[in-house]
Amino acid sequence: MKVSETMISTLREVPAEAVIASHQLMLRAGIMRKLGNGLFAYLPFGLRAFRKVENIIREEMDNIGAMEFKQPVVVPGDIWKESGRWETMGPGMLKAVNRVDQELVVSPTAEEAFTAIIRDELSSYKQLPIVAYQINTKYRDEIRPRYGVMRGREFTMKDAYSFHTTQESLDETYEKFAKAYRKVFKRLGLSVIPVRADSGAMGGSGSEEFMVESVIGDDTLILCPKCGYAANTEKAACAPDTPKTIDGTPQKATDKPYNEIATPNVKTIEQLTDFLKTTPQSFIKTLIYHVINSELDLSKAPGCAQLKRVTENGGANPYYPDSFFAVCIRGDLDVNEAKLAALLKASEVELASDTDVERITGAAVGFAGPVKLSTVPVVADETVMAMHDCITGGLKTDVHFEHVEPNRDFTPYITADVRTVVAGDKCPHCGAEFYSKKGNELGHIFKLGYKYTKTMNVTYLDENGKQQIPTMGCYGIGVDRALASIIEEHHDDNGIIWPMSVAPYQVAIIPVKFEGAMKENALAIYEELQKAGIEVLLDDRNERPGVKFKDIDLLGIPVRIVVGDKNLPNVELKCRNSSEMQLVPAKDAAAKAAEIVKAELAKLNG
Ligand SMILES: [Zn+2]
Repeated sequence: MKVSETMISTLREVPAEAVIASHQLMLRAGIMRKLGNGLFAYLPFGLRAFRKVENIIREEMDNIGAMEFKQPVVVPGDIWKESGRWETMGPGMLKAVNRVDQELVVSPTAEEAFTAIIRDELSSYKQLPIVAYQINTKYRDEIRPRYGVMRGREFTMKDAYSFHTTQESLDETYEKFAKAYRKVFKRLGLSVIPVRADSGAMGGSGSEEFMVESVIGDDTLILCPKCGYAANTEKAACAPDTPKTIDGTPQKATDKPYNEIATPNVKTIEQLTDFLKTTPQSFIKTLIYHVINSELDLSKAPGCAQLKRVTENGGANPYYPDSFFAVCIRGDLDVNEAKLAALLKASEVELASDTDVERITGAAVGFAGPVKLSTVPVVADETVMAMHDCITGGLKTDVHFEHVEPNRDFTPYITADVRTVVAGDKCPHCGAEFYSKKGNELGHIFKLGYKYTKTMNVTYLDENGKQQIPTMGCYGIGVDRALASIIEEHHDDNGIIWPMSVAPYQVAIIPVKFEGAMKENALAIYEELQKAGIEVLLDDRNERPGVKFKDIDLLGIPVRIVVGDKNLPNVELKCRNSSEMQLVPAKDAAAKAAEIVKAELAKLNG
């Protein structure tokens, strides 16, 4: 491609609205432009890189036998009503009504669309497994889109869905995706941190997220420097530690019965530990939570007999729209609400209002405790059950209990890990101290199970002619986000440094002036590279050499050949990722550049 036949739209200034490197560089290099809030147009150079990202993903999907589909972007609201997500997706889902009052959805994801299509095609077990994918436009009405395409409203995703007769078949496909994803990210030149979530409680289901480190990451990762354990803070577990007394000695059981102590005007843990001359580790913090849409069976739980349970979708998942729990945790730790919601199979948990706390505990806020609490079920973090001789709220205003022994003085309804793990906590596998990083999710693979196939009535006939429901997996990669993440990882002050696999062009030829011998030599190298199948850009503009150098660097073209009068019959050859420059005979330049391109590609693809 000659520059005169395409469009270089570089900017010298850093646009004010862009705060992260990828956003700044995508604007400066003229890769994309903003059309509206969270809506971006790719310009020709950007689109070339974008297509390469897509194609690498496509090749690896095809390699594991996934079949490519293309769903419409606008889909009927009816299928979302069938799955139950018409209501639960919230305002992030863009809905529209057409001229005949049909409700429509601009796809934020495509579980429903694929489940509906496969439902109509599927009749026999012989067709399974089915592994389907698409690379397509999605829309989520982000309330505050920012960081360019890293968190836009319209975006492109590769999303895949698999359907299986057995868990083993799902496991097998899931592992294929796990491998394919590693290959995709390697080919894209991305260093990803795979984060496995071994959520055993969910009936053997599994998921793995592929994260990249990012200062503006939505997720906090907990990482082990020694054994490589990596977990999202929402799921991270740590090794148990021994609760200590104020002397630093392990807490010991007491045979004193618990008794009331007056603690007037003492509400926070700091005030309490000062007042009682103890440490937060001796205090059982009790928080009252409002739990929304819990799918647990609470019919035998304390205080829950009167709770209203709702049944939808033919009784598949009855749930309690509102319930309350007391959650106990050691005073120096924090409750992890994501863990708590998962434990209670709830769509959401939030701290109860003061009015609810007062109603449930019979005291002012600040005096909740598990002893003698009968109005709500108690969830105790595992750390609590290792404590001895503790302090708790006394369920009366200005009263606490001392000498409380967990197990002896109260029995939780559920004991589980609901603690927030932080840097400095110990790895449960090797004992090393965790560190923490911010990360952004680039991809996710997930064993969905029967969630959609059940609610949307997907069936097939098994070997015995009996009707069965298939189990499902889903697998996503954000294409725009992957592209932006590549730039985040590969850039310097002068611009982007594309990995060879995704560079819009692999080689750029810059004649200092596009005339005479320089023009002749540049054209010869250009033609030779084109014949060799190398993607080459010839800067035939009538610009000062400095302008051309700056543009080509900003655009991140991996190999640069400069043809100048001064050096002919030699030309300058330089790689974007190195400061080294070499002079090579003009007649050898194309072969040399092609060799570099091939070697780089082999490194990434190997
Ligand atoms: Zn470890």
